[in-house]
Amino acid sequence: QILTCDVAVVGAGASGLAAARDLVKAGADVLVIEARDRVGGRTLSKRLENGVTIDLGGQWVAPTQERVLALAAKLGLHTFQTFEDGHHSLLVDNAVQRLAEGQINEAADVHDDFWQGQTALEKLAATIDLEAPWTHPDAGELDMMTFSEWTDRTLTTVGGRLRMKMIAPAVFSVDACELSMLHVAFYFGAAGGFDVLTKTRGGGQDSRFTTGMQELSLGLARELGDRILLGRPVRRIVQDTSGVSIECKDAVIRAQRVIVATSPTIAGRIEHSPPMPALRDALTQRMPMGTAIKMMLIYDRPFWRDEGLSGFALTDQDVPQLMFDNSPEDASCGILVGFTEGSAARRWIDRSEGERRGAAVETVAGCFGQAARDVRDYIELSWMNEEYSRGCYAGVMPPGVWTTFGRALREPVGRIHWAGTETATFWPGYVEGALQAGERAATEVAQLLGVSKQL
Ligand code: FAD
Repeated sequence: QILTCDVAVVGAGASGLAAARDLVKAGADVLVIEARDRVGGRTLSKRLENGVTIDLGGQWVAPTQERVLALAAKLGLHTFQTFEDGHHSLLVDNAVQRLAEGQINEAADVHDDFWQGQTALEKLAATIDLEAPWTHPDAGELDMMTFSEWTDRTLTTVGGRLRMKMIAPAVFSVDACELSMLHVAFYFGAAGGFDVLTKTRGGGQDSRFTTGMQELSLGLARELGDRILLGRPVRRIVQDTSGVSIECKDAVIRAQRVIVATSPTIAGRIEHSPPMPALRDALTQRMPMGTAIKMMLIYDRPFWRDEGLSGFALTDQDVPQLMFDNSPEDASCGILVGFTEGSAARRWIDRSEGERRGAAVETVAGCFGQAARDVRDYIELSWMNEEYSRGCYAGVMPPGVWTTFGRALREPVGRIHWAGTETATFWPGYVEGALQAGERAATEVAQLLGVSKQL
């Protein structure tokens, strides 16, 4: 089967769909080619028998994520704030401490140390050119250093350093020793600061969608209708003087331009003729996905709230390391969402689901008491096993990559343009970044095709 269009978009995640939407609006003939039999990529919502929807992929939206909120409003999606009233919990050495909201109950010197580290990171992040982090006057030094090394140099207490390094798995789903400090500064700068990224209320974990975050992509897909081809993994892209051929399962799509809207590492698995330029190929070899297992424990009620607990917990266990109250807005059942990230996810990826469930229940019992054992259901997704994601939340930059290969992240290669949340300059790694990147790629292509992009 040979199909023709002006622009082919590879990937029906939020980014590819946003690019396609804008190009269709501009009057271009567009086809979206998706490997999976569904749209939404790293967002995946599931309706439980009791009618409650859970998100196995992306779920939260921050107040500053203007594109997500505008799309949600257009689609009539309802959001509600994450529950975090009451005491947070900290489980260390099988002993649980209760903490005031937003606080880690630590010695004053640790608190002050962490605060000055946070301030230093915030100041550094504000100096990064988000379009070109490699142009920073200290880019070479920052890019050579891991987040772990920077933390050891900048903070002075054991407790402060430990707490700072815990941010790496929680935000990037890799360990602090795996991340370039330039990347960390870029990421915090692109999200608008430390608090914006890490806080629940007013920050990155502020609100959720009653009907799930995948609805954003499903809504965009409804607009695009039969322009989306599902179940068609793209294997090869061939460029010639008159156009580009996208070879996917059972079809070849002939177009003027193509937007590849996947993470760089997944894009690197597509074969190219002519081959990718050296720097672009090297980038796709060096920008690995983070690793995370997301798990949901479902209870009859959010029983922890009876004790004045928020459901938020940090633990020294692998499964999970971090938990939030993820109950529906009306609390018609109780749900805890847990995350196992970075090296902990790698330690647990080959264990059985039953083992992870058992470990998760033990950890929840350690935090919230024996009622945790009456778990009604346990649902998880190990994103490393997803053939067309191979990890999450996003691709990350290890030391040396931004300064050596960063230019190749967004630079088009002939008729190929790059979208996907990793290419964003605002909230990269998030759905907001995915939408921004899609819009930017659509603008690039619209200009080249001479169609007018009306937003
Ligand atoms: P993707 O969603 O990865 O889309 C790429 C698409 O390309 C996929 O549909 C894929 O199937 C397809 N594809 C891949 N290879 C091929 C091929 N060869 N041919 C054709 N198609 C192909 N973000 C938030 O904003 N808030 C959160 O709370 C949040 N939490 C997260 C929790 C988890 C567990 C995960 C997994 C992600 C989370 N994220 C969160 C991140 C967010 O989901 C992603 O940043 C966003 O969905 C990425 O969108 P994208 O379109 O750039 O890429």
